Amino acid sequence: MTTATSPYPIGTPGIPWGEVERAQWLSRQVRHRSYQNDVLSVIERLSTRFDVAEYGRLDYSPDHYRLLAIRSRNWREERSVVLVTGGVHGYETSGVHGALQFLDQQAAEYGERINLLVAPCVSPWAYERIHRWNPNAIDPNRSFRDGSVAGESSVLIRLIAPLRGRFRVHIDLHETTDTDESEFSPALAARDGKAFEPEGIPDGFYLVDDSENPQPEFQQAIIAAVAQVTHIAPPGADGQIIGSEMVSPGVIRYAMRQLGLCAGITGARYTTTTEVYPDSPRTTPEQCNAAQVAAVCAAIDFALAQG
Ligand SMILES: [Zn+2]
Repeated sequence: MTTATSPYPIGTPGIPWGEVERAQWLSRQVRHRSYQNDVLSVIERLSTRFDVAEYGRLDYSPDHYRLLAIRSRNWREERSVVLVTGGVHGYETSGVHGALQFLDQQAAEYGERINLLVAPCVSPWAYERIHRWNPNAIDPNRSFRDGSVAGESSVLIRLIAPLRGRFRVHIDLHETTDTDESEFSPALAARDGKAFEPEGIPDGFYLVDDSENPQPEFQQAIIAAVAQVTHIAPPGADGQIIGSEMVSPGVIRYAMRQLGLCAGITGARYTTTTEVYPDSPRTTPEQCNAAQVAAVCAAIDFALAQG
């Protein structure tokens, strides 16, 4: 654990990391859980009800990961597509398990009305290490650009490329955690040779809309649905959530494409990034997963209601 007052244990303050520091960081990462047991085995069970295909592989020797995408059966060319992504940040557990739970509990029914494409665990190496970065100390969720240096991002871009223009909804499932402030933001600042400035972790769920394509009614429909499951983050005294102006209850905006964020890849009319807060004493892992499922359902319901 690092605090704002003690320097990050790797590198020299003010100097960006080089190869030595990245290798040092990598040597400290420990495998805590199994992608095979937690994710692939669940997808295996789902394969009796959905079409499962490998869309890429990540070779991080000695570890190798098969990336799987799940499609609804009855896929029809004339219908538009909903993309659900989880685990772009591997440590954000409810993003992965919320996507899988959505498939198990809700997707078959929605699949009768719209095409569903789900990539439930975009960053399996980071899922296992409970980390934000890939083994090259790169954040996949700042790397969704053509010619991306993050394999996690480039294979997902390749998966969706043939469907561009047909996406109606993209919902990217994330969490904001206490470790963002205790570990990941300090590590990011150290990596880039910058000073770490804490922003405070909001207590509750919030959404990130796209400032280049704001859809306030869509965001509010999701907030209303999630509020039935878990509490929505209030703004801080400055009217902000995590350093950004709160534009409506529980909603902030980022420039998705400019920042290389996953929610910018499809060009869909309705896009959002969920941010579940799992460290609140007022919630449980089950509620966090349920909040992700409620968000996905509300997003699709809204889009279907628009015709
Ligand atoms: Zn995230």
